[in-house]
Amino acid sequence: MEHIRCLIIGSGPAGYTAAIYAGRANLNPVLYEGIQPGGQLTTTTEVENFPGYPEGIAGPDLMEDLRKQAERFGTDIRNAIAIKADFDVRPYKITFDNETTVEADTIIIATGATAKYLGLEDEKKYAGMGVSACATCDGFFYRKKTVAVVGGGDTACEEATYLAGLASKVYLLVRKPFLRASKIMQERVMENPKIEVLFEHNAEGLFGENGVEGVHVVKRKGETDEQHYDLAIDGFFLAIGHKPNSDIFKPWVRTDETGYIITEGSSPRTGMPGIFAAGDVADPHYRQAITAAASGCKAAIEAERYLAENKL
Ligand code: NDP
Repeated sequence: MEHIRCLIIGSGPAGYTAAIYAGRANLNPVLYEGIQPGGQLTTTTEVENFPGYPEGIAGPDLMEDLRKQAERFGTDIRNAIAIKADFDVRPYKITFDNETTVEADTIIIATGATAKYLGLEDEKKYAGMGVSACATCDGFFYRKKTVAVVGGGDTACEEATYLAGLASKVYLLVRKPFLRASKIMQERVMENPKIEVLFEHNAEGLFGENGVEGVHVVKRKGETDEQHYDLAIDGFFLAIGHKPNSDIFKPWVRTDETGYIITEGSSPRTGMPGIFAAGDVADPHYRQAITAAASGCKAAIEAERYLAENKL
């Protein structure tokens, strides 16, 4: 069985940054790309908040640059999806969907999180053309425009408030007759004159010629009372939660109720010796490319120390 000193699972900013640091530390990292090579940023258009790019950079281009930088320092990048973990004994084992199993001294889990979508066909049709699951990434393109945010939790309230600072009007579509968000976030939304909260509303579809121009909504009250109508909007933001990609690791690492891997304080240490978690899979709060990159750096430094301390 192939033996790897530093195995990195995931190819978003956390995984590639871990690879750059691990490569430069001579750990001979092997990185498996996973389901979405390049991670969530490959689904966005322009990235304007990653330091070092004064003019902004396209999400896929940024990820291509990170990949090249990781390769420059000797990272062995492979394309397969981790489907099984076995951390019972060291060295740890990971099995991939191409039916290979490798063993590793250290593993950096950087598998990310996947934004939840409603499951409407139109979300795919208008992907990158008015549909987004990240207000911080894409809000800037909706300055002085009208947008809708779906969701009633803290993320939805936070994104609606953020967008209200840019857009001229924000509809918040909440499926229940109340918000689930914390009191302070609720107050912020309710007091913001630019935000109109539409309770008991669901989005049914989107329309528009060259991008989103509106959303078909239904207002439901009780079992029978249904009102269908259209809202003119330029952007449609999903904020109905994320699913961290941590399922296969759950028997060995601690996770919160949503599945985010719990690390020790602000370190990437999981509690399992030699197993580190970086990026969105362990971050329910910030979920930014730059914070993911930073935690990937920390994870590689921790891996290097672990290997040195254990003479591996
Ligand atoms: P949550 O799971 O808390 O909320 C999801 C929201 O989306 C709920 O209002 C839910 O409705 C709604 N929703 C889910 N599925 C659908 C659907 N199919 N159609 C319509 N609406 C749907 O997720 P969040 O991302 O908001 O928060 C995750 C965690 O992160 C929470 O613990 C939150 O407190 C925390 N957080 C904290 C922040 C802060 O403190 N500043 C900021 C952001 C997040 P329903 O209520 O009906 O289930």
